[in-house]
Amino acid sequence: VLDDANGEVVAIVARKTVLASGGLGQIFQHSTNRQGSVGHGIAMAYRVGARLIDLEYVQFHPTVFYGPNAPHFLVTEALRGEGAVLVNSRGDKFVDTFHPLGSLAPRDIVSRAIHQEMVSSGDPCVFLDLSALEPGFISERFPFIYRRCQEQGIDIRSEPIPVVPAAHYTCGGIHTDLNGRTNVKHSNAIGETACTGLHGANRLASTSLLECLTGAKCTAREDIGDIRNMEFRLPEPREWKSPQRVADPTLILQDLNQVRQTMWNYAGIVRSNRRLARARRILLELREEVRSFYSDCRLSPELIDLRNAVRTALLVVHAASLNPDSKGCHYVVEDD
Ligand SMILES: Cc1cc2nc3c(=O)[nH]c(=O)nc-3n(C[C@H](O)[C@H](O)[C@H](O)COP(=O)(O)OP(=O)(O)OC[C@H]3O[C@@H](n4cnc5c(N)ncnc54)[C@H](O)[C@@H]3O)c2cc1C
Repeated sequence: VLDDANGEVVAIVARKTVLASGGLGQIFQHSTNRQGSVGHGIAMAYRVGARLIDLEYVQFHPTVFYGPNAPHFLVTEALRGEGAVLVNSRGDKFVDTFHPLGSLAPRDIVSRAIHQEMVSSGDPCVFLDLSALEPGFISERFPFIYRRCQEQGIDIRSEPIPVVPAAHYTCGGIHTDLNGRTNVKHSNAIGETACTGLHGANRLASTSLLECLTGAKCTAREDIGDIRNMEFRLPEPREWKSPQRVADPTLILQDLNQVRQTMWNYAGIVRSNRRLARARRILLELREEVRSFYSDCRLSPELIDLRNAVRTALLVVHAASLNPDSKGCHYVVEDD
């Protein structure tokens, strides 16, 4: 484990290890996930031979605030429920041509419609038009969105909200049973990094926190029983030798940006064999670059993020390439 306080790598020997590192949304250019959510647990589990499943199923939330340097915060679907509609830069209600429910269509359909609109127009975002709602109602019913947009210089009582879809939830992950057990002895996984199969190919909103809590409780209960009743033979950890060289932070940042752009463009909302093959080529090249950083340079949180981001991105691309069927949040088109 890298000790943030002094930059040293320390060994922690444990009878049980629980991976609880969250999702991988940040391997995509637009994501609702907190910084650093690049699927660390998934990358680590892969390296120790744990079984991973359903990684192609990444759910995209259709409406996240967009500004070139603004934070990506969720623009709630309740706004569309109250009558707000998605429009393009010309003011057309483009989702109407995709689905009879227009802006109220299911999440994955709306996300695809926005993606398609952004690709064909070349615009960096679309807009949520709130003009059908009373100005007073908007600030009273949606005070959080109102305030956050105001901080970004947009008064949503009179202006549309710029939005993009964003990677939101990782349906797949480290395969576990309902007690958090993976196929690697004494290694467990819980929360968004784990996959019990509960979320299928597309998660229903508001089910994941409950899963986190029940998964954590069941896993803790089983582990306590094991620790009381089993004998453990703990390994002798190897000493870690830290090189003195520091990796160039500009290169690390640029490489991470490249992972995120590659995944967004070629392995995101709409996938095809050719796009996935291109993503794989770019990621394999990055993997070589990261290997040399990892062996020659001191570890830093940024370098670990990059290394694990490249690994999880490759795993998502691999899973997506193996699955030709559009289902849930995995959507594949034929190559021309
Ligand atoms: C904006 C937003 C709104 C949501 N709303 C809802 C909702 O209304 N209802 C619902 O059910 N779900 C919701 N979700 C989903 C839900 O919040 C997540 O699925 C859940 O929080 C995942 O919990 P977790 O503990 O698995 O991971 P996280 O909450 O992501 O926690 C992971 C922790 O591990 C740490 N970590 C990761 N890697 C490392 C590492 N290498 N070393 C050390 N530490 C590490 C992180 O810093 C973090 O503290 C929402 C998600 C988002 C992004």
